[in-house]
Amino acid sequence: MKAMKGIGASPGIVVGRVIIHWKEQIDILREYVEEPDREIDRFRTAVEFALEQVRETYSRVLEKMGPDEAEVFHGHKLMLKDPDFIGRIEDLIRDEGVNAEWAVKQVADGLIQIFENLDTDYMKSRSDDVKNISERLIKLLLQVGGMDLSNLREEAIIAAREFTPSDMSQIDREKTLAVIAEMGGKTSHGAIIARNLEIPAVFGIPHLLDELENGDLIIVDGDTGTVIINPDGETIDKYREMKVRYECFKKSLSEIRGQKSVTLDGVEVELAANVASPRDLDEVFRNDGEAIGLYRTEFLYLDSTYLPPEDVQFEAYRDVVAAMEGRPVIIRTLDIGGDKNLDYLAIPGEENPALGYRAIRLCLDRQDIFKVQLRAILRASAFGTVRLLFPMISSLEELREAKKILRETQEELRRREIPFDEKMQTGIMVEVPSAAILSDHFAKEVDYFTIGTNDLIQYTTAVDRGNEKLAHLYSQYNPAVLRLIKTVIDNGKRAGIWVGMCGESAGDPRLIPILLGMGLSEFSMNPSSILQARWIIRSLNKGELEGAAETALSFGTAEEVEEYCSNLLQSLSLCR
Ligand code: PEP
Ligand code: MG
Repeated sequence: MKAMKGIGASPGIVVGRVIIHWKEQIDILREYVEEPDREIDRFRTAVEFALEQVRETYSRVLEKMGPDEAEVFHGHKLMLKDPDFIGRIEDLIRDEGVNAEWAVKQVADGLIQIFENLDTDYMKSRSDDVKNISERLIKLLLQVGGMDLSNLREEAIIAAREFTPSDMSQIDREKTLAVIAEMGGKTSHGAIIARNLEIPAVFGIPHLLDELENGDLIIVDGDTGTVIINPDGETIDKYREMKVRYECFKKSLSEIRGQKSVTLDGVEVELAANVASPRDLDEVFRNDGEAIGLYRTEFLYLDSTYLPPEDVQFEAYRDVVAAMEGRPVIIRTLDIGGDKNLDYLAIPGEENPALGYRAIRLCLDRQDIFKVQLRAILRASAFGTVRLLFPMISSLEELREAKKILRETQEELRRREIPFDEKMQTGIMVEVPSAAILSDHFAKEVDYFTIGTNDLIQYTTAVDRGNEKLAHLYSQYNPAVLRLIKTVIDNGKRAGIWVGMCGESAGDPRLIPILLGMGLSEFSMNPSSILQARWIIRSLNKGELEGAAETALSFGTAEEVEEYCSNLLQSLSLCR
């Protein structure tokens, strides 16, 4: 028996036999061609074929799975028609007289490197798109294929080096028990499709294929990201029992759609969604999101090759605000810099970008950019309930300066008789320790706090949130972070303002009881986590959790906190 750890990419537990999906390793050599123009023709033919394949997959996925799952193939179509991407490859063939497959690989590798360095979920998915398209083009140029995933002879767990969206779109939904792979993470397109197909998945398991033989009996636990190869009888029984409990839990989830997020002792909280664009709204509604707790507006800027004009921004914000029909929408001002860079702003490289010229710091310096966004947000506020949010605030001076610019912008709109919500709430992300420590002062000058744990963990523990080598040190259970969270909630309460959370911790089932016990009143998360969070909230007695929060805060290590939180969650009855 051997247990391997990866990233839980799609939940669910299965026990079954494995089939290894070996993909051909293709070596691409640089060759010189006599007639680059003929090579370009060969490349164009491959592009035509690729387009044909992608169109066909798009229609199949649209019909079988729906528009959300098909979206990625629409993106692939656009990329195959993108004059910049195609033009770069053709230029390389022409200028250097090289073979098409080598040129495709060169251009793709360059782009993948740029996207991966940006280290945001969105950029990672762009990098997946480039990988997929270039792999497809290279296979067409070299005329090689792969195993047929759509037609399994018997039920099996499929293991591979990586599952691309095309692989996942061919998956035999009836007979595929789970998918596991060496590459990929929670946000790769393969993972997104696996979740939508409700097929358990564990990705990012180093050296998986070295340990597996075709036909091995394995257990896949998509929640904890565990794969157990050739388990003993006792382990199989334990997981079979967990599987029954999990399935029962899933059933109760679908039954609480439309119900209130209220504890057994009658305390109601708000379960909101984090979004990056109006395109995410479908998922919000499908999962019963009660509000938008974080609209990450920087994606509008990242999606563009120039600063998005006021009207373009206004429409994107208004679409979300209007669709929410009066329910709150927290719009965060531009949180750019650090790991999310805009080429067109030409910000010089920095030694410490996470601590550098970014977010509110950049906006206060570039008021031309800031005011355009504030105008667009204020205009959108006339269409529903907007709450303005400033990111990366680390001092009162910054907050005061941001509010001064806001007042100037409001005054300008009043002069121009442009309507906006005069009562719009203004809050800050508490994601820098200095803001958490001084939250008693901040609380007197804002309408609300929302705690950004993703960055608060990074800045409290001095651990780069994107550095895989330090992943073991980056923990939401770190008691130092929990103590800061408690300080912020207490200071908010004392000043009579509400306190929410929009970092990933807000959707962590093991932390929800503790956060509730501390007095958090709004939890904003990935839309797909909302129903699960509601289920947990509805199983809790807030009165009993205050003591549990105290206990969690008394530990000295993240490991102890994690174990305590896990046991607490396990003690909840999973079926009612
Ligand atoms: C955070 O830092 O917790 C947060 C929600 O913001 P982002 O992940 O966009 O930095
Ligand atoms: Mg942040």
